[in-house]
Amino acid sequence: SGGCRRTKRRTPPHQEDVMSHSPPQAIYVAGRWRKPATDELIDVVDPTTEELLARVPRCSPADADLAVEAAHAAQEDWAQVPQPERIGAVGALLKALEARADRLTEAVVDDVGTPLRIADKLQTHLPLAAVTGFLDAARGVEDPVRIGNSTVRRSPVGVVAAITPWNYPLLQTLGKVVPALLSGSTVVLKPSEVAPLVPYLLAEAVAEAGLPPGVFNLLSGLGPEVGAALAGHPDVDMVSFTGSIQGGQAVAAAAAPGIKRVALELGGKSAAVVLPGADLERAVKATVSSCLLNSGQTCLALTRLIVPRAQYSEAVEQAAALAARFTPGDPRDPGTKQGPLVSAAQRARVRGFIDRAAADGARIAAGGSRAPEGLDRGFFVRPTVVADVDADAEIAQEEVFGPVLVVLPHDGPDDAIRIADGTRYGLSGAVWGPDEESAVALARRLRTGQVDINGGAFNPAAPFGGMKLSGTGREFGRFGLEEYYQLQSLQH
Ligand code: NAD
Repeated sequence: SGGCRRTKRRTPPHQEDVMSHSPPQAIYVAGRWRKPATDELIDVVDPTTEELLARVPRCSPADADLAVEAAHAAQEDWAQVPQPERIGAVGALLKALEARADRLTEAVVDDVGTPLRIADKLQTHLPLAAVTGFLDAARGVEDPVRIGNSTVRRSPVGVVAAITPWNYPLLQTLGKVVPALLSGSTVVLKPSEVAPLVPYLLAEAVAEAGLPPGVFNLLSGLGPEVGAALAGHPDVDMVSFTGSIQGGQAVAAAAAPGIKRVALELGGKSAAVVLPGADLERAVKATVSSCLLNSGQTCLALTRLIVPRAQYSEAVEQAAALAARFTPGDPRDPGTKQGPLVSAAQRARVRGFIDRAAADGARIAAGGSRAPEGLDRGFFVRPTVVADVDADAEIAQEEVFGPVLVVLPHDGPDDAIRIADGTRYGLSGAVWGPDEESAVALARRLRTGQVDINGGAFNPAAPFGGMKLSGTGREFGRFGLEEYYQLQSLQH
């Protein structure tokens, strides 16, 4: 390895100096770093400074072919490896990741703009805990099982194409790579071109852990170029995609002729429902924190707060006051709670949503589309609270993927459910009730993949995924692992 680590200088020296990360300008295929088919590169930009952070290859479909070929060639042998050995190999990968925990955090702060203290916890240590969840699940797999006169055995799904977004790069890549490897499947990972640094560190960890060549392959590139080539490749058996609805539809369509298994983790417009008699202050505080986490670039963010009409003004006031305390700043500063958005494009998109809502008559109770004071560089958006809009307004229906909370009134539990379920999404949610029982009763009626009851915490071993247009399939833990097996029944 290492032959492609340093390529000829393509940038003026002053730009080279600002690059604090230099992932190999190469792809990781069949256990080594290789030069891709073209010399084209993608700029990776620091969202805080707007400076060039790194460059990664803009791969072509020919590179996708090479990576799939490597994964395909390695799959049969990997499937024959006894499960305890595969568990050992993934355990070694976990150790290699733990050894680079600080670098993983630094990379995600630089590349995504997640504030340091949040990044260390949620972008690095939570994903590592999720790996432990998968390892526990793999140890608990009962294989084969007897059903009447049948022996039912599990076999790996085969070659998995993993296509991931930029917002939680370690969690989203490990959520696919780890269960695939544990099942005996092999992987080609195509991470987001917007934030590829963490996935490159993952490839480095795979190399250090000594996994057999070809079981894990990484290539960088654009979705419609490399992602589409992977999704339609005849030797790919499963496509696991996390990203936008539009991307998910494209991937599912490309996979359809080959009848591939498709897992889609798409967006959300999740609601926090507050019932009369609940602790409003706690509910508002938790919802604002959830909504603003990672600058609102979190798929399960609670972006709609639905409160009893009698408490509407009070809730808007509280949410606005809390949001104003999330002063945007340098994510490398340990005191910062709110960083920039990931890109100029994302900032423009979010500002567009806020401007259209305001033009439509919404009350902007906090924030707004104007740049935060004193921040003339970086893709910052002020934490924004929107009030006095209809539940079917664009800002209350569409995923903004920015720090924007909408507060809506309800006229009782049935009305709250109607509003909460009244979008095309169904990923996450929260219910705050006067007691656990009434909160659970309402949660069970919601068409959404997970619901936090009275402040229940995210569990990285529980199944995660959406209903409706939020996706299909579940990730993480025991149920996430199951998605990577096929079943074969032998009748005796
Ligand atoms: P995106 O759909 O633009 O890109 C996601 C990935 O898909 C990237 O790797 C991209 O290169 C690739 N891609 C894009 N178009 C493609 C195509 N036509 N064919 C194949 N691959 C393609 O999404 P994004 O902007 O990176 O991420 C933000 C979105 O992801 C949001 O909508 C967010 O809600 C969603 N998301 C969902 C979850 C979840 O688990 N449900 C988690 C995180 C993010």
